[in-house]
Amino acid sequence: MTTVSSTNQWHSTACGLCYINCGIEAMTEGRHIVKVRGDRAHPATRGYACQKAQRLNHYQNHADRLTTPLRKRRDGSFDAIDWDTAIREIAQRLRDVRSRYGGKAFVLYGGGGQGNHSGGPYSSSLMRAMGSSNKYNALAQEKTGDFWVNGWLFGAQHVHTAEDVEHCDLLVVLGCNPWMAHGFRNARHLVNAIKKDPNRKLLVIDPRRTETADASDLHLQLRPGTDAYVLAAMLAIILRRGGEARAFLAGHTTGFAPAGTPFNAELVLREVALPAHGTFR
Ligand code: SF4
Repeated sequence: MTTVSSTNQWHSTACGLCYINCGIEAMTEGRHIVKVRGDRAHPATRGYACQKAQRLNHYQNHADRLTTPLRKRRDGSFDAIDWDTAIREIAQRLRDVRSRYGGKAFVLYGGGGQGNHSGGPYSSSLMRAMGSSNKYNALAQEKTGDFWVNGWLFGAQHVHTAEDVEHCDLLVVLGCNPWMAHGFRNARHLVNAIKKDPNRKLLVIDPRRTETADASDLHLQLRPGTDAYVLAAMLAIILRRGGEARAFLAGHTTGFAPAGTPFNAELVLREVALPAHGTFR
C-alpha cells in the first residue's frame, strides 16, 4: 500500500489482504494508517470493506516487522544491511548461479497467493532476465482440477468464473464461513440480502455452527468426513426428482447417464447430516 505523509486526507487505494482487493480509502500519518473505510466510488465493491481492513496498520507496522534487509551470519544470527548492499549482493549471486548452471536452474515458486499480486509482475521480469520459464505455486496443487474443468467448459483453462452470489436464488455454502473469511465479494451484505429476501435461500453444510450458519435458512450440521456422502445423496435426490438441467447436459456432455440411486439418499442425509435448524424444500 502507498504511504503518504499527511493528515485528515483520504487516499484511494485497495486492500491487499485477500483476493477480492476491495477498494478502500485510507487516512495516514507518516508511515501509519490511522483510518480505513470502504471506497464508495469503487465500481466493484462500492464502499464495502470487512473488519480485516480496519487492522491494516497492524499488518503494516507491527512490532516484528522487518525494516531493513538482514544478512545471515555463519552462526545463524543476522546483520542489518541497507537496500543497495542487499540488492547488489543478491544480483551478484543470481548471476553466479546463472553463469554456472544456466537459466533453467531457476524456478519461481509463488504467485498463487490470495491477495498480494505484486509478486507476479516482479517475478516475471526477474525470470525473463534469468532465462527461465519454470514456475509452480500453490494453485498447481489446489486448483489443477478447477483449471481442467475450465478448459472443458469454456475452451481455455485460464477462463475462470466467480460465484454469481448477487443473483442466485439458492446459495449453498459448503464448509466455509464467508461472514468472516469473505470468500466472495461484499460477503456480509450479500448474506444479509439473501436472509431478508423470502424468495432466496441460504443452505449451509458445515459441522461447525458459524455466523453464516446462523444466518441460513437451513444448516445441515454434518459429521466431519461425511461431506462426500451428503453431496452424493443430494445428487441422487436431484436425479430421482428429474431436477437435472437436461438441455445443458445434452449440449455440454457426452455419454451422460444417471447412475441411479445406489443407496437410500434420505437415509444417508438423516444419518450424517442433522439439520441444526431450519427446513426448506
Ligand atoms: S474482503 Fe476484507 S480482507 Fe478481503 S480485500 Fe476486502 S477488506 Fe480486504
